[in-house]
Amino acid sequence: MASTVSRECDVAVVGAGLSGLTAARRLAGRGKKVIVLEARNRVGGRTESVRLGNGAVGDLGAAFLGGPHHKLMALVAELGLAMDKHPGLGDSMAWIGGKAVRYASYDANLDDEAEADIAQGLERLDAIGKSMDLTAPWQHPDAETLDRINFAEWIERTLHTEGGRRVFNKMVTAILGVASSEMSALHVAWFYGTTDSFATAITNRDGGWDYSLRDGAQEMSNAMARALGDRVILGKPVHRIEHDGAVVRIFADDVLVRAKRVIVALPLHLTGRIRYVPPMPAARDAIVQRAALPTLSRALVRYETPFWRQEGLSGTALTDHLAPLLVVDNSPADGTCGVLAAYSDGAAGRQAWKLTPKAREKQTIDILVRAFGPAAARYLEYVERNWSDEEFTRGGATPMFGPGVWTSFGPAFAAPVGHIFWAGADTATCWNSFLEGAVQAADRAVDEVLASLA
Ligand SMILES: Cc1cc2nc3c(=O)[nH]c(=O)nc-3n(C[C@H](O)[C@H](O)[C@H](O)COP(=O)(O)OP(=O)(O)OC[C@H]3O[C@@H](n4cnc5c(N)ncnc54)[C@H](O)[C@@H]3O)c2cc1C
Repeated sequence: MASTVSRECDVAVVGAGLSGLTAARRLAGRGKKVIVLEARNRVGGRTESVRLGNGAVGDLGAAFLGGPHHKLMALVAELGLAMDKHPGLGDSMAWIGGKAVRYASYDANLDDEAEADIAQGLERLDAIGKSMDLTAPWQHPDAETLDRINFAEWIERTLHTEGGRRVFNKMVTAILGVASSEMSALHVAWFYGTTDSFATAITNRDGGWDYSLRDGAQEMSNAMARALGDRVILGKPVHRIEHDGAVVRIFADDVLVRAKRVIVALPLHLTGRIRYVPPMPAARDAIVQRAALPTLSRALVRYETPFWRQEGLSGTALTDHLAPLLVVDNSPADGTCGVLAAYSDGAAGRQAWKLTPKAREKQTIDILVRAFGPAAARYLEYVERNWSDEEFTRGGATPMFGPGVWTSFGPAFAAPVGHIFWAGADTATCWNSFLEGAVQAADRAVDEVLASLA
């Protein structure tokens, strides 16, 4: 039987994703002795950069960042990593109701009344987010009313045209990965509030999708891990945290870390798979159990060139029932090839993952051909990652709270429990569940830890 290795530090960090490593780096910079325990044999979590067949870098997880991501941009600059700007030009394609539609903005083939309806719906959604204390959405004056209904009901009550409702539903839920009937209206308003507005969240013109990292998004974590050296321990899933005394004991297979404080930087729902002694308060356990991540996979399709640009197309495509539901241009800036990234989420994603790999690949290519023409059939490579199958992620970008969660358990969302502190993008109150959120949540947890040690 392997003997247990015991180590001591000021602050232990569980999870070497962007959030955990940012926290560890900041604490080390403040002279604290840190140890990071990571379950996988790699760092980066939901960022995973791979070499494609022609040597170009491809991101199977997060890929994009933007100007409003102030903390993230500062981190990228500190790490000395190169970024490339997304071309972001051209029309998009939608395959809605069995018909291909070319459009310059979201307003695919809508009449003036439906367009005005969508505009007023977005204004009202953004207004709720802006009037909210994003650290305490349950305190919003309309919190009870908004948290009692799902987002599909909110759309029915707020939008008045059939076309407006259909497109609004599709576009607002496109990056959330679950049906609007599964989410609380309060939660959706809060989520887009954390990104400032719906428009900022989705646009690649001064929004969250303007840039990508030249060496891939995972390089942020790789660079921080290299600097931390043997303070990052890979291949050690933490399964138990004892926090009954002045010292916290963190158990990960054959490693035991004793620390004054611990920051747990995991997807919110995975924090519930660790055993805590003494156990978590009931409200913390309840909110964590309701924070599952939606189904999400991302495929990369490589071409000789980004041929769609010659047709004046941006590479963005939306479909309304078969996965992939969203396609975006993720080509390297050096022009060595064209890459389309195809996202499959929600019910359509689950349907796609019942298919054989070959049939799923064919379904994706068929949709690309419908959107971008026969040239889309002449692809050179197809790679995919199903994040729901990953034991140490189990789903997509953002946990979606159903009705009643915020107003019943909200204060337990990110509140420290004794010497245990919570980071991870899922706990962010600025760009929740984005890369920026991972950094913001790390900064908040580090501030809390330093204050508690002072
Ligand atoms: C397909 C996809 C596309 C995305 N696209 C974008 C995008 O373009 N832009 C953007 O801003 N965001 C995007 N995101 C979201 C972004 O990836 C995440 O917000 C961010 O990477 C989360 O970082 P994190 O450190 O909080 O969590 P994670 O990256 O999930 O890191 C958590 C770490 O904890 C580890 N772990 C889990 N359990 C244990 C355990 N028991 N013990 C020890 N370690 C454990 C995991 O292995 C992992 O390394 C995307 C996400 C996905 C899945």
